[in-house]
Amino acid sequence: YYDSATVLYLNGKFIKAAEAKTSLYSQSLHYGYAVFEGIRAYNTHNGTRIFKAKEHYDRLQRSAELMHIPFPFDKNELIKQTYKLLEKNNIKDAYIRPLVYCAPNMTLSAATEVSILICAWEWGAYLGTQLQKACVSTYQRPNPKSTHVEAKASGHYVNSILATTEAKSKGFDEAILLDMNNNIAEAPGANIFIEKNGRLYTPPLGNILAGITRATVLRLCKTLDIECIEKHLSVDDLKNADSAFFCGTAVEIAGIASVDDVTFPAIWTESLGATLQRTYKALVLEKQNYEVII
Ligand code: PMP
Repeated sequence: YYDSATVLYLNGKFIKAAEAKTSLYSQSLHYGYAVFEGIRAYNTHNGTRIFKAKEHYDRLQRSAELMHIPFPFDKNELIKQTYKLLEKNNIKDAYIRPLVYCAPNMTLSAATEVSILICAWEWGAYLGTQLQKACVSTYQRPNPKSTHVEAKASGHYVNSILATTEAKSKGFDEAILLDMNNNIAEAPGANIFIEKNGRLYTPPLGNILAGITRATVLRLCKTLDIECIEKHLSVDDLKNADSAFFCGTAVEIAGIASVDDVTFPAIWTESLGATLQRTYKALVLEKQNYEVII
């Protein structure tokens, strides 16, 4: 992720990643009490473009508010500094990670003082380009009555790590987690769509992270005249689907080959997911007129 030349942004300053220091007495380290974002920049023919920068920094602020973490930052300034960070590190195709974390405090009271870190690194396809072999996780997503699931809070990702570790240990590529009602929720770091009889379905907001890619896919469906229905989906709905895909900033759109021992019958390249995958790629690379498409 970094070498001796890498620069990161910390509280208004650019400093060498290898020389950056932070306190070990932070609630963020001990309790996972922090909020973060995962953003991507693409090397387009119009130059380096951060995809949906405003949406990501808006969600970072919203996550902080939900978690009672102060957010004393100007989001336009953060976007400007993020572009600068990419320039300083000379990276064009980047994954960008802003993190708002807490000052030293070992209590369980809400944070009063925070730091902001933004780092970036070059990253290829997160899940690879192969179709994913998925399994239904034995872990549920966090219950919305236990936490604010729509906040991208660091501590929530312990659940994601457990589900990923379980899936890999069983020989799968990726996990699919259910919600507390045993409906399909999402993957450890992505949302999910299924295709059945020419229509798409995806779980509604409420028990999942409100993915920015999910929202983009819903918009693309409108543009492409693809019917997409937001509704609760059972494991049976998933396993009886014609095809399915994950979507997220890191994974972009990734086709799913199978769930547990069930292989989807449709040929991926002929699926609605594949059409959306091609369109999404064109959109982020600004290969088509941005305004027309979304
Ligand atoms: N769900 C979870 C649990 C995630 O971590 C992510 C990645 N942020 C997503 C869905 C997809 O969100 P986005 O499209 O905003 O990256």
